[in-house]
Amino acid sequence: MGPFDHTCLPGIFKQTPLRSLPQPTYSMSIDIVPEKPTQSVAQEPSNPPKVLPADPSQTLPWPETAIEPVQVRWRYAISIPLIHLLACLAFVPWFFSWTGVALSILGLYVFGTLGINIGYHRLLTHRGMNAPKWFEHTLALLGVCTMQDTPACWVAMHRIHHQHSDHQPDPHSPLVTFLWGHFGWLMFENRDFTNVKDYQRFTRDLLKDPFYLKLE
Ligand SMILES: [Zn+2]
Ligand SMILES: [Zn+2]
Repeated sequence: MGPFDHTCLPGIFKQTPLRSLPQPTYSMSIDIVPEKPTQSVAQEPSNPPKVLPADPSQTLPWPETAIEPVQVRWRYAISIPLIHLLACLAFVPWFFSWTGVALSILGLYVFGTLGINIGYHRLLTHRGMNAPKWFEHTLALLGVCTMQDTPACWVAMHRIHHQHSDHQPDPHSPLVTFLWGHFGWLMFENRDFTNVKDYQRFTRDLLKDPFYLKLE
């Protein structure tokens, strides 16, 4: 499923209780095994951890890896609300144009679907398909344009998210709050993602490619 798959959906949009959904397979476990795995970690690919689905009526505290006292990531805390406010200008007749409507739909597809959904998510995080390098890099660059961090950072975050969906330390569970799961996770520092050194162990496969290392 896309970046807004079952566990990403804010509570009010959830139609199926989590416990009735099939358990995800942990196909990416193999990527996050440290280079010198310990005995228990090495067994993970054949023995996915049996974590019960979270109760959607429960709440979850902030990720245990969120830095306290909180540190705001101003580059996102300012730019993301600002872009949305500016987009509202389209409702002012003076600024409205049908070309703008067409471009916004096109942009949603190019950056959202191709960049994040296909590129960051299915291709880079889950390796759900094979693609030529030039195409993979192009999709990754489209993903960078959406201001959701670098490919390696996003991939690390999403692999942790899948391994611990709606449990600690899921970086963006909607069980924290609706707003946290929606965009709050992007606005506060998390010690797993402040520096490439913190998350390289989750993305060794990606960072072998100098292209992604350079984007860090
Ligand atoms: Zn999810
Ligand atoms: Zn995923």
